[in-house]
Amino acid sequence: MEKVTIFDTGYFYADGGAMFGAIPKTAWNRKYLSDAQNGCILAMRSMLVKIGERYILIDAGAGNKHLKALSYYRFFGLKDIQEELQMLGIKPETITDVVLTHLHFDHCGGCTYRDDNNQLQLTFPNAIHWVSKPQWTNFHEPHPLERNSFFLEDMKPIENAGMLKLIDHTQLIYPHLTLRLADGHTPGQIVPYVETDTETLVFAGDVIPLFASLSPEWISAYDLSPTISYDEKTMLLKEAVFHHHRIVYCHDAYTLSSRVKQTTNGLFLPERESIVYTDPPL
Ligand SMILES: [Zn+2]
Repeated sequence: MEKVTIFDTGYFYADGGAMFGAIPKTAWNRKYLSDAQNGCILAMRSMLVKIGERYILIDAGAGNKHLKALSYYRFFGLKDIQEELQMLGIKPETITDVVLTHLHFDHCGGCTYRDDNNQLQLTFPNAIHWVSKPQWTNFHEPHPLERNSFFLEDMKPIENAGMLKLIDHTQLIYPHLTLRLADGHTPGQIVPYVETDTETLVFAGDVIPLFASLSPEWISAYDLSPTISYDEKTMLLKEAVFHHHRIVYCHDAYTLSSRVKQTTNGLFLPERESIVYTDPPL
């Protein structure tokens, strides 16, 4: 394992009630800030992993193709992911793999863009794009409740270019990088596990999007199957406690990652000294 870099591609506002489902605002608002319109600032976080000759990007943010259609999310601080990577010294052509936790616009929109002639182009033309088979099926035939989260043009050019790779079970795809599957939020989310020299990072995606969603019952109203989300999250957390995994929170605008512990009465809490905060965008 050579290097892991975590960066944000931009921010948007999500309704706090939607983010915390059945949890009353008096409870969640103590743990996550909101504005006068009940909007919570969410980050769109990506992780770049270098393993040997491979440059692997995990999630690609929203891109800029659908900002009008999605205007009620009040996007701000958007960064061009190609430029962000150039600042890290990486050309888009250098990326060998893109792992997509799932295909909601805020995770895969940045995989394609429209050029000056309005033609769709691949942001990472040489990358294999890893998606789960159940998520790919679901992307084409989503439940109506989820339909507005998908845009075919985010991914179709990648399939047409032959750069799509589907997995249907837990798989070690390169040394130190295992992809696991989790249901609940949407079918077949990929949860990447990255072993660094010192610890294992779990890019939990929307299984645990925020530091404040560590409790298994704090589940977003966007989740299609909350009872499954509860079970998947509990399983992930138990293992994270046992193996001292570090969880990366992909949407938390204030907290980047932490390890977790379980109290004697079963509560999952962050290991306080392990918390890594991030500069809030405002
Ligand atoms: Zn998301």
